[in-house]
Formats: sequence, structure tokens, C-alpha cells
Amino acid sequence: MADDRFHVYDTTLRDGAQQEGLNLTVADKLAVARHLDGLGVGFIEGGWPGANPKDTEFFRRARTELDLKHAQLAAFGATRRAGVKATDDPLVAALRESGAPVVTLVAKSHDRHVELALRTTLEENLAMIRDTVSHLRAEGQRVFLDAEHFFDGYKSNPAYALEVLRTAAEAGADVIALCDTNGGMLPDELADVVHEAVQSGARVGIHCHDDTGCAVANTLAAVRAGATHVQGCANGYGERSGNANLFTVVANLQLKRGFDLVPQAALADMTRIAHAITEVTNVTPNSHAPYVGMSAFAHKAGLHASAIKVDPNLYQHIDPAAVGNDMRMLVSDMAGRASVELKGRELGYELTGEHTKALVEQVKEMESRGFTFEAADASFELLLRDTVAGERKRHFEVESWRVIVERTKGGELVSEATVKVHAKGERIVATGEGNGPVNALDKAVRLALEQLYPELAKVELVDFKVRILEDTHGTDAVTRVLITTSDDTGEWATVGVAENIIDASWQALEQAVTYGLLRAGRDC
Ligand SMILES: [Zn+2]
Repeated sequence: MADDRFHVYDTTLRDGAQQEGLNLTVADKLAVARHLDGLGVGFIEGGWPGANPKDTEFFRRARTELDLKHAQLAAFGATRRAGVKATDDPLVAALRESGAPVVTLVAKSHDRHVELALRTTLEENLAMIRDTVSHLRAEGQRVFLDAEHFFDGYKSNPAYALEVLRTAAEAGADVIALCDTNGGMLPDELADVVHEAVQSGARVGIHCHDDTGCAVANTLAAVRAGATHVQGCANGYGERSGNANLFTVVANLQLKRGFDLVPQAALADMTRIAHAITEVTNVTPNSHAPYVGMSAFAHKAGLHASAIKVDPNLYQHIDPAAVGNDMRMLVSDMAGRASVELKGRELGYELTGEHTKALVEQVKEMESRGFTFEAADASFELLLRDTVAGERKRHFEVESWRVIVERTKGGELVSEATVKVHAKGERIVATGEGNGPVNALDKAVRLALEQLYPELAKVELVDFKVRILEDTHGTDAVTRVLITTSDDTGEWATVGVAENIIDASWQALEQAVTYGLLRAGRDC
């Protein structure tokens, strides 16, 4: 189990799940919990048992299906209702019976919220905290308290906000997490309030939302002011602008402030874990996310390329390997020979002068037709491989493809694609149906090739971007399609350009599958 002196507390499964469009099944929640445990967080808040049947089931299944190595589960819930004994409150009973070693109670610390939202007296709110905390402690659970709207409450009535803190601590709560529930704070004023709270003698934690774009900065400021418990969510998930991104918080504290929060090897796996969680949540990964984003260490070479070649550390704030990410050089038409050479080296190829020259020329020619390799590493690598090999090498050759889009009598639109390919000496014809032409083509090509290459089952199309480029070579507008594809270890992007959108999509799709096979270790 993690060191108790400083807590990394994840609330993805409770607060993060409030994100618009995020919908996690119990199986999804169990999968996310395993990933978070792999990162080495200390606590995983699983949800609100008793209030939400799915969360009750999560805690029930977690007992037998989760084998956590680092983390402890926390059950989230409210203090007892006004005018009821903690022992008689069914929601408190659900927390007791959840089997979670830790209960995190949410309580009001803003006087106006007590009076207007809870509709009880300030004294009764304190009694609710005192009774519930001491009851759960007596029953053998560890108790943390989320002081809701603490910062706004402190502005409204500082004495009462601090009284809530003291009451919870005296009743036996180990940590009182100060919540910037509305997310409106800025680091300097937040740090002052945290400092006051720490003076009260209670152990203080921090829970920030990102409405000012300062959730991570606020969390760090709180730690500097004495908080020893940080809450956040994987990939910054959460309602509105999200919660503090726990990955950014952990990387900052561990790599910049010398905290020993998660095992070094787990931190070096963080990029993979962040992406694996997006696979479960089905939320497109933010390529610009700090530390773990695909672009987090990407450089548009140009003038910098020659310097980066000498010492990459001149242009990056940490070694990307510390978080399992990679430095990437982007090949753009601003870049010349140096960046192409550098990109080749990054991909593991030592290019001769002749290869470099040929590749630069080809990149320039293709970019003039509307291609872009900046965001399509995999396409560039295929181009590079072909240049080095002196020929176009593929796992399969396409004889033809066809797509039909039909509007049925019922008004439904269905697409059907047929592809004919040659691979391993066989001719294969396959048909796929989909909700759109690209989806149908994707299904058909997989169906054709999966018989020969079963690893394609793990390869899936995750993003599809279309851009119409006016005026590229003085004739008609062309369409550029960028496809992002993933397998269980990462993702890659390919590009296609054509006057016809389906043709452009097909080009990107064919490369995506080819590249997926290369990643899986299949030589052409
Ligand atoms: Zn929250």
C-alpha cells in the first residue's frame, strides 16, 4: 500500500464520471480502477453506494473482482440527514456495508448552502458531521471529509467554514479535503485559505475543478500551503471544464517537486495508462494533454532541428521517457533535410544522403498536393520505409473496392462495401456493412484480412477528420482525411488526399491497417 504521509486520491469513478457524454458501466469502472491501481494511486473513490444502484454493484463486485496492489477503495456519500440518527440512516448504512475501508463524506461548509440547500441550521449541520464521522469510525472505517464549497464558504463566513473543519477532525476524520466545488478560485487566494485551514491543526486535502483553467495550479499551490492529500481525475475528466488532471498533478509533484508518490516504473507507464483509460471511457484522447498527450513532446522542426539533433534536452522540459512518452519530430514543409533525418533516426532508420534527398523531395511534392505529415507519423514512416527499400512493400494488394450507400424504404441510410484483396497468395473478397461508407470499408477490409492476420481484431479506428482544401494545385478542391487508429498499446495517424472523400479515406485506411500490421511485428 502507498505511503500514508501524502495521499494521491482519484475520483474519476465518482466526480470524473459526471463529465458530459461519459457513461461507465460497472465493468468499465472495474477496468478503470485496475488501470489506476497500475499507476499506483493510493485511493480510488468508487462511487456512491446506496444512492446509485450501479455504484452499489461496483462495490459488491469489487470485493471479488478487484485485486488492488496499491490502492484502497473509498466509498463516497453524504452525512446523515437532518433530524435522524446516523445509525438509523439507510444511506449511511450503505456506506458502512460497502466493504470499502475508507468512506469519504461530503458535507456542507458554506453557511448559505446549509440554510438554503440543506434547509437546516448551522448547528444541526455540525451535529450531522460529528455523528456520521464518529459512527463510521466506531464501525471500523477510515473517514475522510469533502468540505463542499469550502472556499466560497470561507469567503462568506470564515469562522463557520473552519468550525466545520474542526468538528470533522475532532470526530475522527483523518483528512478534510477542501473543495473548490464551483472551480472559481485562483492559486494565490486559494493558497491563503489553505494556509488558514492548515493552521487549525486538521490534516488538509484539496479537491479542485478547472473552471478557471487553474485546477492543477491550485492543487500545487494547496500542497505548497500544507495540503497532504490531492484529489483529481484521470485525464482531467469531470463536469463543466473538468477536475484537476491527476496525471498532471502526479507528474508535476514527482518530477518537479521531488515527491515520491507512485513507483518510478509506473510513472514511466503513465502515457500508456492514460490512453488505456480513454479506450474504456471512449473519450477521444486530448493530444495536447501535458506529459501524456501525443503532442506533448512534438516539435515542428524547422530551425530547431539541427539543435535538437545535438541535444534534445535543449527543447524539452523533462525526458519524455519518465512518463512513458516520446519526443516526436513533425515533418512539415517548413522543415528541411535535418528534420527528415532526425525523424528517420527517431523511427530507427539511419538515412543515407541519397535517401534523405529523395524523401525531402517526395514530402514536398506530396505536401503541395495537400498531404500533411505533421499529424500523420505513420504515413511518413511508410513513405520512409518505401524510400529505403526502393519499392512499395505491403502485406496486401488491393484489386478493387466499391461502396454503395442506400436509403432504405424506411428512411434508414446503410452503407455496404466490398473489397477484393490479394494477400499471402490468396484472393479474398469481403463485404462489410456500416453506418457510413468509411465505416463499411473499414469493416470489409478487416473482414478480408483478419482471417490471415488475427491481430487486426485489436486494431480500431478511433478518430476520423475531414478537411476540404481549397486551391491546392489550382484545380478543384481536394479532401484531406486524417485517420487515427489504435491497438492495445498506442495509436497512430495516417493521411489520404483525393478529390473524392471516399478515395481519400480509403488511402488513409489502407495505410492504417498496414501500419497496424507492422506494429504487430508482421513484416511485409
Ligand atoms: Zn468535485
